[in-house]
Amino acid sequence: MADYEITIIGGGPSGIFAAFYAGLRNAKVQLIESLPELGGQVTAIYPEKTILDIGGYPQIKGRDLIEQQEAQLAEMDVDVKLDTTVTNVNKTETEFKITTNHGVTTSQTVIVATGVGAFNPRKLAVDNSADFEGSHLFYSVRDLEHFRNREVLVAGGGDAAIDEALMLTGVASQVYLLHRRDQFRALESAVDRLHASSIQLITPYLIKNLELTNEQRVKVTAKKMRTDDEMTELVVDDIVVNYGFSAENSILDNWDVHLTNERGQILADQGGNTEVAGIYAIGDVATFADKQALIATGMGEAPLAVNSAFKFMDPNGRGPMHSTSIHL
Ligand SMILES: Cc1cc2nc3c(=O)[nH]c(=O)nc-3n(C[C@H](O)[C@H](O)[C@H](O)COP(=O)(O)OP(=O)(O)OC[C@H]3O[C@@H](n4cnc5c(N)ncnc54)[C@H](O)[C@@H]3O)c2cc1C
Repeated sequence: MADYEITIIGGGPSGIFAAFYAGLRNAKVQLIESLPELGGQVTAIYPEKTILDIGGYPQIKGRDLIEQQEAQLAEMDVDVKLDTTVTNVNKTETEFKITTNHGVTTSQTVIVATGVGAFNPRKLAVDNSADFEGSHLFYSVRDLEHFRNREVLVAGGGDAAIDEALMLTGVASQVYLLHRRDQFRALESAVDRLHASSIQLITPYLIKNLELTNEQRVKVTAKKMRTDDEMTELVVDDIVVNYGFSAENSILDNWDVHLTNERGQILADQGGNTEVAGIYAIGDVATFADKQALIATGMGEAPLAVNSAFKFMDPNGRGPMHSTSIHL
């Protein structure tokens, strides 16, 4: 008899919702997350960002969304294992063996919700940037209050950079946005809000040098793109760089069960089924035609995969009901 009916690997928004839904169906579930907190990319990268595309919430901060998900999960009897990384999954005749840095458990089915894997921010390519990290240079806005009444330079041109710059206008005394192109590759509505805001744009420039001033501020030197030596200088209190993230999902390639394609993603159908019967993939790690890596997508896939797992465990079992019923 396996220790668990369903093991969910990865405690991002998709994995948390899958664990909740599996609990709703009375499955014996474990949720395994390598980080010390649940929430995946939302917690690790953008806890302060306002998210606009979650059903039922006109807007919600990343941090608050995960808190709501945790509260929902707490209603269920799920074994949540934090600080635990799955290093191998292998299939025996009757079950799956899940190996982590804390030991081995067995499970009848597995839902892989490992997202983009271990991710790291792309760093500012300036020699001495490491000297400023954590004091004046940040790769995400984790504590909005740190920036209150300070002058902040945000670097980057995507959605996340614009979101961060807009968010900072609420607390910083002045926000600058520096980008190496004149155009921003972000949602049109975000660009409209940017142009309507008090943010001062510095384009098309690239940061070349950082220097600490006597007042413990940072002198930023940036070069105008497509010029030989046209420079601009600006003194600010803090710099927030958002050049995106590089993701590392190669840990999956080391598992005994073979799941990934050459891009490190797992091919899944609309029920989350992978090439290995009994293993399902949801959220950012799962791919299929026209897939969009959104929280809403992963949350939509979660119940489908849980129900597929139930069907695998009991092909003749009753299908899912609504969470509450009405009698007509
Ligand atoms: C800057 C930014 C802004 C975004 N804004 C939005 C937005 O506004 N709206 C929206 O819908 N989406 C947005 N997204 C995308 C959204 O965050 C992702 O689609 C979502 O986080 C995917 O959730 P997930 O649970 O599938 O994966 P993830 O959030 O990546 O979570 C996966 C989890 O699995 C864990 N894990 C990985 N490997 C292992 C292992 N071997 N063992 C144990 N645990 C493991 C990781 O630590 C991680 O916590 C944004 C993404 C970024 C980067």
